[in-house]
Amino acid sequence: EKDEGGLASPMPLARRLGKEGLPEWGEHCIAYKELQREAEALVGVDGVNEENEAVFKFHLSYAIEQANDFYLQMEGQAKEAFASVSHAVSTVAQVHGDREAKSQRHSGGAGGGSSAAMTPASTDSSPTTSTDNLWGAGVPPLSHEEMDTLEMVFEGWKKWAHATRRHTLSDYINDAFMVQLEAGALKAALLDWLKLLMFIDHIRNFAMLNSVAALKLIERHTSEANAPSLREHLRGHEIFRMQGLCGLVLEMEGVATMLSACLSNEAPHSPPGVANTWSPHVCPFCSRTVQNAVIMPTGRTCCWLCSVDSSYSCILTCPLTAKPQDLRSLRAERVLSRFLQRYFPAAYRSGPGEVTGNSANMARDKQVQQRTAHGILSMFKAQADKKEKREAEQAARG
Ligand SMILES: [Zn+2]
Repeated sequence: EKDEGGLASPMPLARRLGKEGLPEWGEHCIAYKELQREAEALVGVDGVNEENEAVFKFHLSYAIEQANDFYLQMEGQAKEAFASVSHAVSTVAQVHGDREAKSQRHSGGAGGGSSAAMTPASTDSSPTTSTDNLWGAGVPPLSHEEMDTLEMVFEGWKKWAHATRRHTLSDYINDAFMVQLEAGALKAALLDWLKLLMFIDHIRNFAMLNSVAALKLIERHTSEANAPSLREHLRGHEIFRMQGLCGLVLEMEGVATMLSACLSNEAPHSPPGVANTWSPHVCPFCSRTVQNAVIMPTGRTCCWLCSVDSSYSCILTCPLTAKPQDLRSLRAERVLSRFLQRYFPAAYRSGPGEVTGNSANMARDKQVQQRTAHGILSMFKAQADKKEKREAEQAARG
């Protein structure tokens, strides 16, 4: 790894393939280490042995095809899941729309300031801010003891998330948020939608890491005679282009708009007209809206395909910072974070490590945090009560 001109060495690809994917997907990944070992053995004293290279080419093609088959299978599953999620959300939105219309008629039309006294005291009546209807009204202030406990809980939570660099569903849409949201079709649809987003993130990560692994093997270990055909072979596969997922992510946008409208009783947070450009970032290579975004170590996002096309020997020079970077250190941008940030900002902000510097949001953040706090504490209490009850029962029996 010394021939890369003093580049900071990224985490070994083999380790990322093993660590970042779902464990049960491991067997479908390109066997990077084994192929690398095989490739290194190709070069003898007389240069590259052509016969051995043909065998290597065959093995690599086979590995790419296996990974691609699995990718297509997962993409198919995601599309199936999307059909059912989208159906569930449309149904919920329909019911929600009907109820809205009804309550507006009851309150005498356009629901201004006077409507508060007229509408029934349900949880979705007259929200003051977008997510207020998700939380029970009249939360009592926290005691000092409760505050201390919480401080510890939050710190531990943030540390864990930072150390593992993992964002799970519960980090964002935390338990308190979910507990307060009435069980029913809307909650079920929201959970299914979030699960699908995470699934899409996993598939994108799988596709990106395996493509980089294949590129790396091709560009470093194959002769000029064989590399172009292998590169073409890789580019011919869906796993490399990820086109299907790109379309699916756009369709998820429509569902997000419906969900967030149901949850907030307001217009969605995105201004009209930008709904179809899910990423606000502009790619520094092609100057268009980023497609299948990857994050460079400099923190900038760009299109996945642009990053590959602009790389030379798997080294990419960021046009904005002029810094060279290894393709292996790219990360697939998480679709989940982007959607949550945009459609569920309160839930996103209460996730780990997301600190907003905007002072206008500070009061709101504090309020959300305190409500989250109450939710977490009541869960702890419920758990403790359950344990106590169980122990009492055991004692009574014994
Ligand atoms: Zn681009």
